Amino acid sequence: MSTALFPLFADLRGRAVRVVGGGAVAERKVEALLHAGALPRVGAPALTPRLDQWVAEGRIQWTAGEFIPAWLDAVWLVIAATDDPAVNRAVADAAESCRLLANVVDDAELSSFQVPALVERGALQIAISSGGHAPMVARHIRRQLETLLDASWGELIALLGRQRTRIRTRFPEMGERRRFFENLLAGAVPRLLRQHQGQAAEAELQRALSLAPRAPTVGIVTLVGAGPGDAGLLTLNALRAMNEADVILHDRLVSAEVLAMARRDATRIEVGKSAKGHSTRQEDIHAQMLEHARAGKRVVRLKGGDSFVFGRGGEELEFLKAHDVPFEVVPGITAALACAAYSGIPLTHRDHAQAVRLVTAHCKDSLDTLDWQALAQERQTLAVYMGVAGLETFRDKLIAAGRTPHIPFALVENGSRRTQRVITGTLADLPQTARSFDVQSPALLLLGEVTALAHTLHWYGDAPLGDAASTHESNAAAHTLSRAA
Ligand code: SAH
Repeated sequence: MSTALFPLFADLRGRAVRVVGGGAVAERKVEALLHAGALPRVGAPALTPRLDQWVAEGRIQWTAGEFIPAWLDAVWLVIAATDDPAVNRAVADAAESCRLLANVVDDAELSSFQVPALVERGALQIAISSGGHAPMVARHIRRQLETLLDASWGELIALLGRQRTRIRTRFPEMGERRRFFENLLAGAVPRLLRQHQGQAAEAELQRALSLAPRAPTVGIVTLVGAGPGDAGLLTLNALRAMNEADVILHDRLVSAEVLAMARRDATRIEVGKSAKGHSTRQEDIHAQMLEHARAGKRVVRLKGGDSFVFGRGGEELEFLKAHDVPFEVVPGITAALACAAYSGIPLTHRDHAQAVRLVTAHCKDSLDTLDWQALAQERQTLAVYMGVAGLETFRDKLIAAGRTPHIPFALVENGSRRTQRVITGTLADLPQTARSFDVQSPALLLLGEVTALAHTLHWYGDAPLGDAASTHESNAAAHTLSRAA
């Protein structure tokens, strides 16, 4: 015998449905029925306050008392939601004898229909069933689908619904219509809806309807911030883009764990730049983006951290703009935020730091052009994106500009990754400390009083290495110094 259920979306608007039971489970079923426009008739000795209220508002009917088969007269479906197995069985038997479909909550044996787990985006409904074998798994899959489908799918369905007649008239032949929809779904309309540009989406659809059936598709580049390495720090939008990608152009900094989340058959191309050798020139990256987008591909340009924080995202978008390639941007968690969070260092703190500066100091040029007076100011935290080579110059210039040598720092190596190390000390000893712990790239330097908190607030991986400068000590030191000056 077949184990397959026949899937069915029932139109229950204005139709009576019996719900037996008046508890929390019955309440959820009644709510779903009301959502579908049905007329629930609840039979139970007593009701939850909400069910009571719906009765008072005239939205549902209530038959008080114990179940009798006559409750099944003149209804289209029945749901048994009591906690008494005997009652549930009596409802199922009575329904069977009058050929009425019955659902007994959490009892696949007794049920002649089942209520699937549901993902809803407007008129789009995705129903998931495990055939009653493992409803928890169906619910788990539902949660995964929830994260994959944003609200714009509902808007897309609504938009296409409004244009349904026009589309059918324009493309009466089935094959033509299918090609039209395939192009449409791969094109700009869904993206414009995601970007909350409903009018532009509508206009684009009108344009597509006025074109010859086989208009070429235009690709798109999505600039995605991949975060610092921990795949859990990807946003839902990043995951979606990676799941829709044909081509992924990624930096070296992007972790394997993150790349593993992308669509299996997407082509992955490393275009990373490293300080020493084997770099893809920025122009080559531009050329590759252009080539794939012009071939109609959905390109994801995947960068470590956030694309707009020392990621050259701006330059890449300017290039795409100049070449008329559509683009969108998904922000990522930048190294400063991730390293701070994963080392227990609050970047601001009412007692110690009212400002944060994100600074890059990757090469000599960038060190020379920094505003050292501003960087040396007190009551702020510096987050320095840098190669480990420039630490000596960095320390000297900062102290020369007036920052106390006693200010504590934390170097966060491989922040948020399993291999994370946090090394602390005071500014005076920064280069020596980095050397003695052999700190490797990628590492972020956090500097300021707040970094001393890493010793009390660390929660991820190993405790910080190196000297603990307590916040009080460094405050006291700063005091003495400023009084001496
Ligand atoms: N766009 C990126 C930064 C690129 S610059 C972002 O927003 O994070 C590269 C520098 O970022 C590295 O030299 C290092 O200083 C820092 N960095 C990136 N990922 C890091 C990580 N997981 N741990 C520590 N530092 C990191």
